[in-house]
Amino acid sequence: MARDLGPKCRVCRREGMKLFLKGERCLTEKCAIERRSYPPGEHGRGRIKQSEYLLQLREKQKARRYYGLLEKQFRNYYEKASKQQGITGEVLLRMLELRLDNVVYRLGFAASRSQARQLVRHGHFQVNGRRVNIPSFQVRADQIISTRPGSSAEQVIRDATDLTASVAPWLQADHDNLTGKVLRAPERTEIDTPVSEQLIVELYSK
Ligand code: SF4
Repeated sequence: MARDLGPKCRVCRREGMKLFLKGERCLTEKCAIERRSYPPGEHGRGRIKQSEYLLQLREKQKARRYYGLLEKQFRNYYEKASKQQGITGEVLLRMLELRLDNVVYRLGFAASRSQARQLVRHGHFQVNGRRVNIPSFQVRADQIISTRPGSSAEQVIRDATDLTASVAPWLQADHDNLTGKVLRAPERTEIDTPVSEQLIVELYSK
């Protein structure tokens, strides 16, 4: 499956903030943002001329990379969101949040979204008792996410739960039994993704 394999810390430095793409390392002083908080590249410390387009582009890139998606995949989410009822930007974020790999990460069963994606891809999780190995699978309210019985990744998943301080309010996690439940779709105020979704909508609707 296609995914972004570029250097992750470089992405955070480009966006000027911690996007927590590397799991445990992001919580240590080895984090590149802590050491070099300026953008990467030869002109990283130079002045960048800001424009409306650049602001919109950066916001879209930030959101896309936060969820680990390629341009085409992200654009497809936008197209679907724009056809649904409601505020397009919020619908877009909600759809991204309800991806199975994101939910696994939010439940604390993976140290990063990329690890969550790999665990899902390798079939270590079930939804309502059925194995699902599609990271983009959209979970729904009342569905139960659990580790596959006998999963060889149980220790990795348990280690990840140790890094989790809190779980999103729209989810319920049982870290002892490695199960979680989707209580409802998240409200915008419950999504802590550091993006201004309106700028993304403005960019795509040009
Ligand atoms: Fe981003 Fe994590 Fe790298 Fe820090 S360690 S720059 S938060 S990916």
